Amino acid sequence: MNYYSTNKSVPKVSLKEAVIKGLADDKGLFMPERIEAFPESFFETIHQRSFQEISFEVAKKFFGEDVPEADLKALVDDTLNFDCPVVHVNDNIFSLELFHGPTLAFKDVGGRFMARLLAYFLKGNEAQVNVLVATSGDTGSAVANGFLGVPGIYVYVLYPKGLVSEIQEKQFTTLGQNITALEVEGTFDDCQRLVKTAFLDQQLKTGLTLTSANSINVARFLPQAFYYFNAYARLRERGVTEDIVVSVPSGNFGNLTAGLFAKKMGLPIKRFIAANNENDIVYNYLKSGKYEPRASVATIANAMDVGDPSNFARILDLYDHSHAAIQSEITGYRYSDSEIKEVLSEVYHKYGYLTDPHGATGYKALDEALLDGEVGVFLETAHPAKFTETVEKIIGAGKVPLPEKLAEFMKGEKLSIPLSKEFDDFRAFLLQQ
Ligand SMILES: *Cc1c(COP(=O)(O)O)cnc(C)c1O
Repeated sequence: MNYYSTNKSVPKVSLKEAVIKGLADDKGLFMPERIEAFPESFFETIHQRSFQEISFEVAKKFFGEDVPEADLKALVDDTLNFDCPVVHVNDNIFSLELFHGPTLAFKDVGGRFMARLLAYFLKGNEAQVNVLVATSGDTGSAVANGFLGVPGIYVYVLYPKGLVSEIQEKQFTTLGQNITALEVEGTFDDCQRLVKTAFLDQQLKTGLTLTSANSINVARFLPQAFYYFNAYARLRERGVTEDIVVSVPSGNFGNLTAGLFAKKMGLPIKRFIAANNENDIVYNYLKSGKYEPRASVATIANAMDVGDPSNFARILDLYDHSHAAIQSEITGYRYSDSEIKEVLSEVYHKYGYLTDPHGATGYKALDEALLDGEVGVFLETAHPAKFTETVEKIIGAGKVPLPEKLAEFMKGEKLSIPLSKEFDDFRAFLLQQ
């Protein structure tokens, strides 16, 4: 299948080219030229299939023309050696737990899938590929762990100094091997700008093969559709088949966009909720029709501290830039840190369910938005222990136990290279590699 750019001023490219390039030459984001729907019968029996089986069927729709079935099956099975269960929280609200992967956040799904797909495309290729990834906390670890030890691929993780939690930082600064962490004197938006600018820099483009593992990369974001199908299957198992509302804690909007793709493929989701923290650019767009990016502010849900969400371009493209069409599918909510803290504490003390600050925003939006007869699912995007200090302070109930996987990372030694937010410094650094 070919991929076009959302800016539509360059020719279409193959999947392989889209994955290796990351961003189109006209700065647009790649979109698959077709979105194939499943027949209704697929959904009638979907609950009889496992997460891995469902994901393989979805992967075939996206990548089946480009990757032979047996290879794709191996890729999916190798990526998804964990589950994304649906857990009941209260009356009509469920949590889709996306934190059972190796770095305990949803980005493990796309990060691992992309690493394996890229390695598959580069097999037998001599050239070194440099993966650039800007992270607000969780992307860096998922991508770095997905690519760790993959021959011929070097990963550079750019992260904002002092703006990620200690555990998040440890997950990508302690790995060594083919992973380099760059500690940027700036915000996540600065990191994202450095990465995007690098792709458009002639000198870098001629000297190095660069790609991005942020959700701008189709191989990172499309696999995120897998778990929306799984959410439906697991609800159907419990007898829920309609009026399902999905709430997505959103920053760069890759996760929500993958959900919109799933819906276009026929998944029976009634509507979506985009839950924002104080970085409410898309919330404002949904209300006013005006998209006004601005500098991000730091919040306790730091993975959503994004002032100019990349994937918004994909949402506009999916709905032909119609504000009315977008509004009919997505409702926006936004919460301050104090509101997030309050709901996190309430859900824990009232229902015995511990969320992380991102999941808490998703829950709160559902709690406000659900109508009679609707069933809500919020995406619990990270394990609460990734934000131990914040979460412990909020619930005031002692220590949140650190899962084994996280405890291992904490033992490692932080290795990172300081970098200014000036592009010239980043370019000079890359050229020395
Ligand atoms: C990345 C992330 C988000 C936001 O996802 P987007 O796809 O960028 O909208 C939300 N929660 C957590 C824990 C994350 O790591």
